[in-house]
Amino acid sequence: MAEAWWVEVGDGIWVRRHTELDLSLGLIIGERSCLVIDTGGDESQGSAFATAIRELTDLPWTVALTHAHFDHSFGTAAFDAATVWAHPACRHELQSTAEHQRQEWATYYQNKDNQEISEQIRRARIVLPVPAPPDTDLGNRIVRFIHPGPAHTNHDLAIHIPDAHVVFAGDLLEQGAPPAFGDAFPASWPQALNNILAVNPATLVPGHGNPVTPAFARAQQAELAQVAHLCRLFREGTITAEEAIERSPYPAEFTSEALDRG
Ligand SMILES: [Zn+2]
Repeated sequence: MAEAWWVEVGDGIWVRRHTELDLSLGLIIGERSCLVIDTGGDESQGSAFATAIRELTDLPWTVALTHAHFDHSFGTAAFDAATVWAHPACRHELQSTAEHQRQEWATYYQNKDNQEISEQIRRARIVLPVPAPPDTDLGNRIVRFIHPGPAHTNHDLAIHIPDAHVVFAGDLLEQGAPPAFGDAFPASWPQALNNILAVNPATLVPGHGNPVTPAFARAQQAELAQVAHLCRLFREGTITAEEAIERSPYPAEFTSEALDRG
């Protein structure tokens, strides 16, 4: 089983870090209930996460999904009977892409000779979310759900804890690796990140990597704005794909995906 450990980013606000995919899942504890942010890539990882949560709190849980990508959503069945919240478009996205994602990633792990994770992905039961409310009260702690606009996907959800000045940004932010553009909207991603920074967080939690400062997020926002600019020049025919790749802050395969997405 892949290694995992807790990092506390505020009073009762925890990040579960994983060596596998450098994944970061979240937990927000109030006085009456707790909110689980993302559930991992399969039910085994989800159930290990649930067990780790139960070592911190016995409070009833609700789940919030930042987006439909398998590594954030395929572990949800381990949180039995929990209410599952997400962006309104996440449900349809999961319905229409889960089997394709399952094939793609089960094969990926099979090719990496990791039969165990491959099998777990093949057998994960998909749990469909319902639209998140604008906010929720966990007991003396309000949590707000932000729809920052199309960015890493068309259904990104960020989670803001105002009393602690913490935002869980999903894959709108990545630490330790470039942002992933496979399902992205490069033109509007910079503004979406600005919409998250507008709530003045002191700490932002990426979907992969370590918690970061606003300065880090602003630097990534500037890189994403550069990619958006290159995508526009490429679309207009002003520069070639090779020139865009040359001028991009990110490696060729990431920039190519961004150019494909426009
Ligand atoms: Zn993602």
